[in-house]
Amino acid sequence: MSTIFEKSKPGRRGVDLPTRDIPQEFYEATELGAEYSRSKPAELPEVSELDVVRHFTNLSTKNFSVDKGMYPLGSCTMKYNPKFTEDLARLPGMAGLHPLLPQLRRGGLLAQGALGVLYETEVLLKEVTGMDAFTMQPMAGAHGELTGIMLIAAYHRDKGNKKSIILVPDSAHGTNPASAALAGFEVVTVPSSDEGVMKPDTFKEYLTDDVAGVMMTNPNTVGLFNPYIKEIADLAHAKDALLYYDGANLNAIMGYAKPADLGFDIVHLNLHKTMGTPHGGGGPGSGPVGVVEKLEEFLPVSRIKQRQDGTLFLDYDQPKSIGYIAPFYGNFGVTLKAYAYMLALGGEGLKKASEHAVLNTNYLRVKLAENWDIPFNKICKHEVVLSSSDKVEEYGVSTLDVAKGLIDAGFHPPTVYFPLVIKEALMIEPTETEPLENLDAFVEAMTKIAEAAKNDPESLHNAPVTTPVGRLDEVGAARKPNVVLPE
Ligand SMILES: *Cc1c(COP(=O)(O)O)cnc(C)c1O
Repeated sequence: MSTIFEKSKPGRRGVDLPTRDIPQEFYEATELGAEYSRSKPAELPEVSELDVVRHFTNLSTKNFSVDKGMYPLGSCTMKYNPKFTEDLARLPGMAGLHPLLPQLRRGGLLAQGALGVLYETEVLLKEVTGMDAFTMQPMAGAHGELTGIMLIAAYHRDKGNKKSIILVPDSAHGTNPASAALAGFEVVTVPSSDEGVMKPDTFKEYLTDDVAGVMMTNPNTVGLFNPYIKEIADLAHAKDALLYYDGANLNAIMGYAKPADLGFDIVHLNLHKTMGTPHGGGGPGSGPVGVVEKLEEFLPVSRIKQRQDGTLFLDYDQPKSIGYIAPFYGNFGVTLKAYAYMLALGGEGLKKASEHAVLNTNYLRVKLAENWDIPFNKICKHEVVLSSSDKVEEYGVSTLDVAKGLIDAGFHPPTVYFPLVIKEALMIEPTETEPLENLDAFVEAMTKIAEAAKNDPESLHNAPVTTPVGRLDEVGAARKPNVVLPE
């Protein structure tokens, strides 16, 4: 496909500007001097309206997106993105909200609606997670993790505890150890058992007096729920270590189990995954953090508080707070969409979302197991991880080849080579909204790929062949990016 510049034809116009009605003398008097003027006209594409509309409409369909097809990415999957919440976020009173609207004195009423959205979202999230208090400030999952780990540090500092280690199971999401390290802790990895989860016996070996906290993704990145969680929590608490829950993908247990009941002290949620808000292209996100009562005083400023008369305000007077994590209202538009999503679904609806996410995944697991190796082939939650080790060894087809083959079949490829606990991993999360016929079509595509691996491996080495560009040098693109247009 040619660029808009290549489509340019001298003299072609896409707009009709009205004739100038400024008097000539005035125009001359205000004309910029030569030093501020271009010596030759800007090289803009000369195209008609039709050229422009067709060009950008075509371009918009070149990329794969959740609005175009199934996107079973795994872990960081963008789930359901209802369109009505987009309309709400664009309401002038919401989109035009000024962060400096006064909350305390005169004019405070102008911000009450927005503060109400934040306040009530906290109430809903407390209900979903069982936590005692929330902050809506963090702007992404990893940002929530950092906030949570800073809360752990503040808690121990306040008690005079000298603890420097955060334990992270090897099946945790990659951001977990990164966040703990960024907050200044030493990260120690705890291996999973052959059941795919961290077991209490192993955990005990690592649980020294130096352990400040434990970060768990549960279900973990293999999609498995750790059934020993209560025992692990009791062990941790006996040593005054805090338990952190990575709830980015709460659609695995929402409505069925609350992190607080499982023994967790801190939880972050990704509203941009579980609660129906989009997160394409790296943002915008929202990673609210919930805590049990003993940690509430450390939450970041500002906190949304209610006065006697029912009005709301942002409270910055929190002496033990870890301080600022984000300014003003956090990513307000994201919170607003999640709020509307939760109200629309209600408690029963959220429970159903989890039910369908888990059901869809297990349907895929059973069907895919006919042609694919699944190292932990048992009931899983929101995602399942296949291994293409056998295809690699027997047919010389790489995991990347499989992923690229899926593109030709019309699917976004899943996350590959992660989690590290499974060799040649393909991590698949269908999400709660894919209907049966799409799941079946995905299974059929994967079956055809398994057959091609055996009978025509060359076809997979060359995939994708149906896209505007074929196999790209991804390492080169990451290491030596060239972001300048060719001359
Ligand atoms: C996506 C994800 C994160 C990180 O969230 P970001 O918003 O991308 O920072 C953390 N943990 C898990 C399990 C995730 O899936």
